[in-house]
Order: sequence, then structure tokens, then C-alpha cells
Amino acid sequence: MAKTRPGKRDLESYTIRGTNKVVRVGDSVLMRSAENEKNPYVARVESIEADVKGNVKVRARWYYRPEESIGGRRQFHGIKELFLSDHYDVQSAHTIEDKCIVHTFKNYTKLDGVGPEDYFCRFEYKAATGGFTPDRVAVYCKCEMPYNPDDLMVQCEACKDWYHPACLNMTVEQTKQLDSFTCDECSSLDRKRPPSRTSASGLPNGKVNLKQAEHKRQKK
Ligand SMILES: [Zn+2]
Ligand SMILES: [Zn+2]
Repeated sequence: MAKTRPGKRDLESYTIRGTNKVVRVGDSVLMRSAENEKNPYVARVESIEADVKGNVKVRARWYYRPEESIGGRRQFHGIKELFLSDHYDVQSAHTIEDKCIVHTFKNYTKLDGVGPEDYFCRFEYKAATGGFTPDRVAVYCKCEMPYNPDDLMVQCEACKDWYHPACLNMTVEQTKQLDSFTCDECSSLDRKRPPSRTSASGLPNGKVNLKQAEHKRQKK
């Protein structure tokens, strides 16, 4: 049910000034930031309303960038990562610059290319406390870090864990040249077994897997 206040009416959409881009409730938008022109604010439009004079306002639920959070940007945060905050404001619709897309983490990792309008969100963020939901995520590699989709990782063909080239004392280029990869731990186990040359499930023969997989290992 739409709330009605005296002299205000709810709108279903708003067309960004000077464009034919239509913003609807639930869409993500870039909003002009007075402090930082290069990094506009990102928000989810929760409602759109017009007053009697025809001024359009939107109720915005802010996305925070990692550097705007209390804990700051960490190594596993992606360049296009955003946190959906519990911080809302009412803003003039005129501050909307453009639309954008905030993907789920899974969908973001499957994008063929990341455009300027593509972002992703895997955490909700409490602006007052700096708390995150979920507070546990899958971790990978010897360094036990959550996955940063901007970082290349290589998969061990035996244990299926994913590793950062740097944590293996390799360069990204060296990693890309590999025909197969088995981590140190699995290699030392493997010496006790006859070598198996069957290719791993679904992987192209003779190439290491350099993408990301779903893991259930939980960070303590
Ligand atoms: Zn690592
Ligand atoms: Zn392994």
C-alpha cells in the first residue's frame, strides 16, 4: 500500500533530466556528490514522490563504498564492491545522474565484462556500528581471505581450493602459463599415490582453471 501524505503523491517512475532513462522504485542510481565529483553516491530508490509544485523527491537507501565504511577498504574488497547500508535519506530527484546495476556477487563474477555501470553487493552494512551481514563468508587460499573478484586465482586440481599467485610465490603471468596446478599440500600427499592423469570435472583439458568456484569453507 502506498502511503499518502497531504499534498504529496507517489510516483512509479522518474525520467532523469536531459535523458530518456527511466528510474523506477527498486532501481539503483548514481547521485551527484558535492564532495567528490568522480565518485557519485550510489543508492537504491525506495520510493519516488512529487509535491504539489511538482518537485520530485526520492527516498534513497545508500550503498557505501568500502572506504566509506568504519573498517575501511580491505584487501578482499573488489573495486566495484558496495555495501547496502541501513542509512536512508530523502533527496531531490535532480541529484540523480544516471542509473547503475548492483549485481549479486555470484552474478558479478559471471559477467563477461564489467562496465562502468556495473557494481556488486554481498554485504549489508550497519552505518552506526560498522557491522556486516553476513558476518561470515567463504575463504580461500593459504591466506584464508574472502574472494576478491578483481584478483586472479588458480584452482588446485586435487583439493579444489583457490590460490592467489602471490601466495604461491608466482606472478599472474606464470600462473596463466601453467598446464596444471596442484597445491603444495596436495602434491606432498600425491607422492604417496600413483599419479592420476584424468582431467578434472568439466575443465578444458590441459589448462588450469583460473576462475572462481563455490566453496563452503567458513571463516572462523
Ligand atoms: Zn592468498
Ligand atoms: Zn590442493
